[in-house]
Amino acid sequence: MSFRFLLPAVLVFFACRSAHSPAALTLPPPKAERPKNIILLIGDGMATAQVSAGLYWKGVGKSVWERFPTIGFHKSHAHDERVTDSAAGATAFACGHKTVNGAIGVLPDYSPCQTILEDLDALGWATGMVVTCSATHATPASFIAHQDLRAFTEAIADDYLHTALDCFIGGGKGYFNDRPDKKNLLDSLADRGYVIRSGTGFGRLPMDGSAPFMLFTADREPGTASAGRHYLPQATKKTCEYLQKRSEKGFFLMVEGSQIDWALHANDRSWLKAEMLDFDETVSEALQFAAVNGETLVVVTGDHECGGCSLNPGEGKREFRPAFASRLHSASMVPVYAYGPQSQTFSGIYQNTAIYGKIWAALGMPNGAGK
Ligand code: MG
Ligand code: ZN
Repeated sequence: MSFRFLLPAVLVFFACRSAHSPAALTLPPPKAERPKNIILLIGDGMATAQVSAGLYWKGVGKSVWERFPTIGFHKSHAHDERVTDSAAGATAFACGHKTVNGAIGVLPDYSPCQTILEDLDALGWATGMVVTCSATHATPASFIAHQDLRAFTEAIADDYLHTALDCFIGGGKGYFNDRPDKKNLLDSLADRGYVIRSGTGFGRLPMDGSAPFMLFTADREPGTASAGRHYLPQATKKTCEYLQKRSEKGFFLMVEGSQIDWALHANDRSWLKAEMLDFDETVSEALQFAAVNGETLVVVTGDHECGGCSLNPGEGKREFRPAFASRLHSASMVPVYAYGPQSQTFSGIYQNTAIYGKIWAALGMPNGAGK
């Protein structure tokens, strides 16, 4: 079926959803046996209590979480510690290996592990990352860089020159052009054909797919959702459309709601609410793209729990009050939500590293880039 015929059907489907009919909660079945495109969305620090809070804030029956046909849980622990950090957590997704806390795209012996983004890039897939932190922050870094420590921000930025990433949207421009070593990586990226822009607008970007680009939304870390930052949902939608034009083979897109974790470290309820609602909208955009496209596997998860979050009674029957047992990460299992071709393989309880294998298997390459 062509896109032209499908789009009205999907619009009717989404219009029906707002009428709250029970059937409307179900997404259309995928149109392919295997996915062509992968969208992996990571809510940093997001586990069950955070998703529950997001669901109640959005309104029962309205949140994106209730629309997924498949839900599983992953065990988030690091190589040698029960509680993971975001570097080891993202490396587990990116490489399929547990590693030590603080390590970026390397094994426990600090030898580099090729990531799924790098492998798919080498196989001809279009690749992108859209985040609300800097490019050098642990989660995006673990998909493209190989460094012993997450704190090596300039070295992580250097690693962006080693992979033909098609697009990046997020903060951290200063790590590329305002560095102690005086190197200007933006010039090097421009030499490789990248269009480099600052801000959150898409007007001056090669959205026709004619060139790779980096859109820097901040010099260091982007602002908070509670202070009005709101580019993630739209950037996710636009990036899916752009990546689709960059390769016939398909695309791999990693999207991160990076600051959910920071709100939790700060034990800040209103910041958490703003980030969870922003992420709900972002996941919604990914689902909408996948529902129309029919060949896209959407996987949403967190890298670990943060804040020891629980939902305590509030002042009225309809109220609740998130409470925090800590300002650090915890070892709770983390939910995984999946939709699209092969999404059924994401049910059950498994290691965080299994997500890597499940994505490759869904693509029909159970041995990874080795096919
Ligand atoms: Mg992160
Ligand atoms: Zn954290």
